[in-house]
Amino acid sequence: MKVFIDQDKCVACGQCVASAPEVFDQRDEDGIVVLLDESPPAEQEFNVRDAAAVCPALVITFRQ
Ligand code: SF4
Repeated sequence: MKVFIDQDKCVACGQCVASAPEVFDQRDEDGIVVLLDESPPAEQEFNVRDAAAVCPALVITFRQ
């Protein structure tokens, strides 16, 4: 799985970090999302899908 983020659209809500803390983090200064792992292992797929689904700004996309 390959994960992509569009930081320009992020509203710093933290939902993605709650869903997949091993893949996403937030910048200390403004809370904007940071991608920790652009190619997460298969066991993270559920969490990444959940993060993409709950993100209110449609920041997160992925492909297999
Ligand atoms: S859930 Fe979306 S809008 Fe919220 S911090 Fe994560 S990427 Fe940004």
